[in-house]
Amino acid sequence: MTLLDVRNLEVTYPNGAAAVRGVDLTLAPGEKLGIAGESGCGKSTLALALLRLLPAGTRIGGEILLDGEDVLTMKWGRVRAVRWAGASIVFQGAMHSLNAVHRIGDQIAEPILLHRRATAASARRRAGELLELVGLPAARARAYPHELSGGQRQRVMIAMALACAPRLIVADEPTTALDVMVQAQILRLIEGLVSEQDLGLVMISHDLAVLADTCDRLAVMYAGRVVEEGPARQVYED
Ligand code: ADP
Ligand code: ADP
Repeated sequence: MTLLDVRNLEVTYPNGAAAVRGVDLTLAPGEKLGIAGESGCGKSTLALALLRLLPAGTRIGGEILLDGEDVLTMKWGRVRAVRWAGASIVFQGAMHSLNAVHRIGDQIAEPILLHRRATAASARRRAGELLELVGLPAARARAYPHELSGGQRQRVMIAMALACAPRLIVADEPTTALDVMVQAQILRLIEGLVSEQDLGLVMISHDLAVLADTCDRLAVMYAGRVVEEGPARQVYED
């Protein structure tokens, strides 16, 4: 079975902007799909639609089958269950979703507690293990986001995304805000973890070279549509 099957997805924001206009995509378990395209072509909208994270009043048409279940027609309780545990998004620039006033260990533990997967003490222990998995000492759990570098914060975001053992990771411009050296480290980290755990990966970037390096397949978007799709090397060389 396909892990993700997006069929004729259409997204129109409340102000009338048609951001996604009939997108079809599929992803097999363990596959890495890159989505490229210039700023404003609809990549982030697509990512947000996968977890129903779009603003109220946004019109969404088509189907988004995650493990065969349509995210777009699920009850809200089920959508909440799918967030973090079915699919997780790593957003652009870590500050985007790390809370400045909470210790990073508590933030990693939050989705675990939200899903009632563990007691507070074992969620905290799990947060330490996840930090080590992404290459940070478990003791950093007590740090606040501003005490970490940009690359370290992005590692924390990756740890959080993995906390509830999702089958799909969506990485939306995960390295855009970072130095070139750190960018490469974060890409290798994502690639390694996804391969080890046999997760599906949808990696979004405006940088085709980054995607060609990391992904098996590439889709190029333009003005809300997929205009080219194929094996990564082939699309990159075109
Ligand atoms: P990308 O991720 O490729 O840069 P986006 O998905 O962010 O593209 O945006 C696609 C289109 O939707 C753009 O024209 C953008 O201006 C518009 N858009 C994005 N977010 C909103 C919003 N919250 N309300 C209205 N229009 C939006
Ligand atoms: P609340 O109802 O408390 O706001 P949500 O489940 O709506 O909680 O999520 C809060 C925020 O957490 C969302 O706006 C989004 O930024 C982020 N979020 C939710 N699910 C995920 C996920 N699977 N991956 C990454 N971020 C998520």
